[in-house]
Amino acid sequence: MRISTAALRQSDARMFTLVVEGLKAAGTRTAERCFTIPLSQMQATLRMINQQGGRLLSVTPADQASATPEPASTVANAAPAPVTTPVKHEAVPVNLYKPKDPYIGTVLGNYSLLAEGAIGRVNHITFDLSEGNLHYVEGQSIGIIPDGVDSNGKPNKLRLYSIASTRHGDNLEGKTVSLCVRQLQYEKDGETINGVCSTFLCDIEPGAKVKITGPVGKEMLLPPDEDANVIMLATGTGIAPMRAYLRRMFDPGERAKNPGYQFRGKAWLIMGVPTTPNLLYEDDLQSYLSEFPDNFRYTKAISREQQNPSGGRMYIQDRVAEYGDEIFTMIEDPKTHVYMCGLRGMEPGIDEAMSKAAESKGLNWSELRPQLKKADRWHVETY
Ligand code: NAP
Repeated sequence: MRISTAALRQSDARMFTLVVEGLKAAGTRTAERCFTIPLSQMQATLRMINQQGGRLLSVTPADQASATPEPASTVANAAPAPVTTPVKHEAVPVNLYKPKDPYIGTVLGNYSLLAEGAIGRVNHITFDLSEGNLHYVEGQSIGIIPDGVDSNGKPNKLRLYSIASTRHGDNLEGKTVSLCVRQLQYEKDGETINGVCSTFLCDIEPGAKVKITGPVGKEMLLPPDEDANVIMLATGTGIAPMRAYLRRMFDPGERAKNPGYQFRGKAWLIMGVPTTPNLLYEDDLQSYLSEFPDNFRYTKAISREQQNPSGGRMYIQDRVAEYGDEIFTMIEDPKTHVYMCGLRGMEPGIDEAMSKAAESKGLNWSELRPQLKKADRWHVETY
């Protein structure tokens, strides 16, 4: 398709939405994808579409594209409609490798993410995927089948882990996957029990071969809209998918790899850990804060060092309550998505904080939340 040169002569600040089909991504062709880009990136994006064998279906000024009418909210006494039609995602790879015939990945690296004095063990582990066809997108999970047998003498079953890397992998070559794993430990009858798979992974050495399945999951996909607002609520290793989103949004190498995704919205990470040395990926997060101060916000709930207003441990639901008004104002914008990942125990507290914030705006959270879910704007993956 041809683009009018009149459009190209306009000021570079103008935004355009391109609809493309048949792009080749990680070995598969996507059905349809939308890019919203400034005019200054038009040539580079067209080149990328061409290189990836895509077909341009339409180019529309972005203000015209976003002027599509949205369905009205059904919330009683509601302020402006916080609901929109579900997000259209690119085709997502699912179950490329199954437990009967898993991918055999080689460990490339395994290092601790914790600082001196932290509680427990949390490691970042990277696997090579250069053979075969295992690929994924941000927000998906993979299964790991640990070596050995269970207490019944049967081969160990797979455990799912959220992927902590972007589709390009940590080295940006598209042939690795990384996980963020805490070694599970608990007391039983006076004995310390170590989690089977988490211990297997935290102890694993580079060069070892590991059975991998998947990828799976469509709950935690990032919206393709570069102007979306993304609120992330994570406890501990629940940061895994958020680490992938934030790299996709702010890592310079990632941005260079994704001409069609130059994030311009607001990303707000609210992160819960027990102590300061337990903070994860802190250096990366600090560098995003200094490079993208208008786009990235980072709030910590350090449970064993900070107190909530009632004098108890500071949890992320206390932060949600503290910033309820701002969070709600963001949610009223149909471009805002909320992601929650980590301990299941945080869910009731977050619901309670959201209910209070909703009430103060004359909204009913128990009616609103299912609407947000239906619109693909409320994403939860808790264990
Ligand atoms: P952690 O370091 O043990 O805990 C993280 C923080 O959450 C700590 O500050 C902890 O506080 C706090 N916390 C404890 N109970 C809470 C509650 N009811 N509400 C809010 N915060 C609470 O975390 P972790 O061991 O990494 O565990 C994270 C959990 O996420 C695990 O259960 C893991 O399986 C799960 N996970 C899920 C996914 C997924 O669903 N895809 C991915 C990764 C991890 P205190 O300990 O000080 O009380």
